[in-house]
Amino acid sequence: MSEDRVLNAESAGNGWNGGNAVKFRNFHFESDYGEQYQKAFMLHRCCMKLSETETKVTIGVVEGSGRDLLRFLEAYHMPKQTAFVNIGKSEFASFAGTLGCEASVNGGGKTGDSSFALEHIEEDAPVINIINALCIDAIKMGASDIHIEALEKGVQIRYRIDGVLRPVKLVAASLFRQLSNRIKVMSGLNSLEQRLPQDGRMTVSIDGAALDLRVSIVPTSSGESIVLRLFRGAALELDELGFVPEQLYALRNAARLPYGLALVSGPTGSGKTTTLHALLRTLPAEERKIITIEDPVELRQDGINQIQINEAISLGFDGMLRRVLRQDPDVIMVGEIRDEATAELALRAALTGHLILSTLHTNDSVSVIPRLIDMGLEPYLIASSLRCSAAQRLVRKLCPCCSREVKPDKRAAPLLRRQGINAHRCREKNGCDLCAGTGYLGRTVVGEVFKSDRELEALIERRADTETLRSCIAGRGFRSMETDGLEKYAAGITDFEELEREILCA
Ligand SMILES: [Zn+2]
Repeated sequence: MSEDRVLNAESAGNGWNGGNAVKFRNFHFESDYGEQYQKAFMLHRCCMKLSETETKVTIGVVEGSGRDLLRFLEAYHMPKQTAFVNIGKSEFASFAGTLGCEASVNGGGKTGDSSFALEHIEEDAPVINIINALCIDAIKMGASDIHIEALEKGVQIRYRIDGVLRPVKLVAASLFRQLSNRIKVMSGLNSLEQRLPQDGRMTVSIDGAALDLRVSIVPTSSGESIVLRLFRGAALELDELGFVPEQLYALRNAARLPYGLALVSGPTGSGKTTTLHALLRTLPAEERKIITIEDPVELRQDGINQIQINEAISLGFDGMLRRVLRQDPDVIMVGEIRDEATAELALRAALTGHLILSTLHTNDSVSVIPRLIDMGLEPYLIASSLRCSAAQRLVRKLCPCCSREVKPDKRAAPLLRRQGINAHRCREKNGCDLCAGTGYLGRTVVGEVFKSDRELEALIERRADTETLRSCIAGRGFRSMETDGLEKYAAGITDFEELEREILCA
């Protein structure tokens, strides 16, 4: 076989859709598989293209490859510069395994009549179409994430809609490797890596509009689990989130303070970051320097400086915050306070002329105080910096088209009575075309917000327990998440199942 003829690969002929993971010790693999040498050439000459730029080609060759091969490749790639990297024989053999072939590696020379089956590998186009179709479909259905999982029975595809996963498709198991490879290539990940988790980003073009997706791939016992997170452009305004007027008033006031700390707490996926961004949008961005430190930057906003942390180069929230403080900012949003170092910096910054907005993982708004004390912060520091604390959950809203009026749930009645809530407008889910038979459409915040004051500051400084703090706040008409949720249930906005799942069980 003439080398010239086989060297130029066609995407149909060289698919990396094999089984086992390969990790090379000497290089980072970057190549798109559409540009690789043809399989026959790679296996005969024990070499592979590792990366290719406008000016340079990096080629992996098995140790001991003859000079003639190197010269041939140099000449072939002229005028580009050629660089060679040694690959171990066993590494190359296992790479060949991913091609579904056995390589007989004998020092990089010709292997004579090496036997491998040139199996038929489908064109890439159908796979790209599947990925595009999934994205379009997911957007139409209002999904936030696409989950692609290799299972025994096939590739399961699910969408997360209004916070709940919904199975939408089961495709042939044989397609998984191609889907995974394509997604990896599109998001700049190592397509040979199947043993380590990888994170990346990709952009797909839908109806001429670019859609950003965050990609996370984690190996599982039956293959991989791939999650694509969709970043949707349209951001919600603060008053569209579901906070009641008193809560909105408290939040808006906190965002207008010249300095201090405002926190939003709740578990992952409770919409904390969305609330903080909506709050930032209420500020006059031309007059204030607003910086956000996020992990990752999900939604880009005009007029504010958004920075993504990078743990890989030791720029976590604390390191970034330290640097950002030198930028003379007025408002800083710190994506999350995870550790003492970040907490200490954030609180001190809040005392020295900066408004700090951040999130914490606690169950309710009051628990942020003991949480910060547990992190090792001095109570006086918390008392003097904390101005406002909110907590929130997201519950699904009943579909307005099909929900039906019902009597309050038996389990709900005593709770409603205890809180003196009149529940004449309770509704239950049904299902129609609009809500795809689920009975729900969209989500709303169930939240609580309190402002700090002198009395509370004194209690914090005395290290008062959570109950004492809570009763101090309750004395001023504080609306707890439980009350807020029950009010929304009583008004027919959501159902009791949703409250039980998100609020009452927590
Ligand atoms: Zn409906």
